[in-house]
Amino acid sequence: MADRPHVIVVGAGIIGASIAWHLAREGARVTIVEAGAPGGIATRRSWAWLNASWGNPEPYFRLRLRAMAEWKRLSREVPAIRLHWVGGLLYDMAPDELDAYADQHGSWGYGIRRVDATEIGRLEPALTAAPAMALHVAEEGALEPLAAAQGLLAAAIGLGAALHRADVTGLDMAGGQVTGVITAQGRIAADTVVIAAGTATAALAATAGIAVPISAPPGLLVATRPLPKLLNGLVMAPDMHVRQLEDGRLLAGADFGGSDPGEDAEATARAVFAGLQAMLKGGSSFLFDRYQIGHRPMPADGFPIMGGVSGCPGLYLAVTHSGITLAPALGLFAAAEILKGRRDALLAPYGPERFL
Ligand SMILES: Cc1cc2nc3c(=O)[nH]c(=O)nc-3n(C[C@H](O)[C@H](O)[C@H](O)COP(=O)(O)OP(=O)(O)OC[C@H]3O[C@@H](n4cnc5c(N)ncnc54)[C@H](O)[C@@H]3O)c2cc1C
Repeated sequence: MADRPHVIVVGAGIIGASIAWHLAREGARVTIVEAGAPGGIATRRSWAWLNASWGNPEPYFRLRLRAMAEWKRLSREVPAIRLHWVGGLLYDMAPDELDAYADQHGSWGYGIRRVDATEIGRLEPALTAAPAMALHVAEEGALEPLAAAQGLLAAAIGLGAALHRADVTGLDMAGGQVTGVITAQGRIAADTVVIAAGTATAALAATAGIAVPISAPPGLLVATRPLPKLLNGLVMAPDMHVRQLEDGRLLAGADFGGSDPGEDAEATARAVFAGLQAMLKGGSSFLFDRYQIGHRPMPADGFPIMGGVSGCPGLYLAVTHSGITLAPALGLFAAAEILKGRRDALLAPYGPERFL
C-alpha cells in the first residue's frame, strides 16, 4: 500500500458515505463510485429509527448502542447531520415479552422505562387508545436518512474524496488480488475496494468468485401529507410503527422495516393508512401522500457482514440491515481496519469468514 492509500468505495448510500468520510478524515485518497443517485437506494426508503432495541444478542446490542453514541460524535464533526433524539415508545409485544425485554436490556444498561397509561397519554397525547403498559427509551431517535447520507458525502468530498458516477460491472483482479473496479467508462485502480452496494453487494462480490449470502426483503412505508406536530417521538404499536418527519409528514408501516407489500401494494398502503388514521386523533383529516417500497440488504443471519475476505486481498465487504443505526460505527471501524489493520472487537462476530 502506498503512503497515501487509494480506496474505492462502491456505493454512496449511508454505509458507503460513512466509510468514505471516515477514510477521508484519516487521510486516505478516496474514490466513491455510485451508479445511481448519490444517497443510496435502501437508505432513502428507510424508516430510520436509531435504536438498540429488542430481540438481539448482547454483542449486537453493544454494537448498536455504540453506533448510537457514534452518531452524536459524527453530528458534531459533520454539522449537516441533524439527529432527533425524540425517544421511542414501544408496545408491539405481549406484556410478558415487554417485561422480558425491559429486564434484559435494562440490565445491559439501555435507558428503558416501563410507563403506564397515564404517562403514555402524556408522552403521546395524540394516541386514540393508550395501552395499559408500554416501554419508553428516551435515548432512541431518528434522522432523515437521505439528508444524512448526502451530508456525509458532501463532507467527504470537502475532505478531498472524489465522487465518480458509474456502474461498477465487476472487480478487477490480478494474481488473486482485487486491484480495482471495472466500469462502463473504464477501470479504476485502487489499493482496496470496499463494496458497500447494499442489495447489489452479492452480485458484485460474485465477480470475484465470492458468495455473499444476502436477501432483499421488501418493506412498504406510507407517508401522509405534512401535518402540524402530532407525535413527540417514535411509536412502535402493534402492526403500526409511526414517526413524524421533519417536514410534518407521518411515515408509517406495520413494522420499522416496512409492511410486506403483498400482491397488491396499493391495497396494502391503503390499509396501513387506514390503520394510521384510526390510531391517531384527528386521523380522518389526514391526507394520503404516497407509499414507497424499499428493499433491505439482509445478510442470511440478520447481522452485518463487515471485513476483508481471506484469500482475496484488496477487498472489504460492508453490507447490513439496520444500516441507518449502524453507519457511523461501521464507517469508523472500517476505516481503522483498512488503513491501520486494527479490527474493533465489536466487529468480531461479523466477519465475512462466517459464511465463506
Ligand atoms: C423500509 C425500510 C425500513 C428500514 N428501517 C430501518 C430503521 O428503522 N433503522 C435502521 O437502522 N435501518 C433501517 N432500514 C435498513 C437501512 O435502511 C439499510 O440497512 C441501509 O440503508 C443500507 O444502506 P447501504 O448504504 O448499505 O445501501 P443503499 O442505500 O442501498 O446504497 C447502496 C448504493 O450502492 C449503489 N450501487 C449498487 N450497485 C452498484 C454498482 N454496481 N456500481 C455502483 N454503485 C452501485 C446503489 O446505487 C446505492 O446508491 C430500513 C430499510 C428499509 C428498506
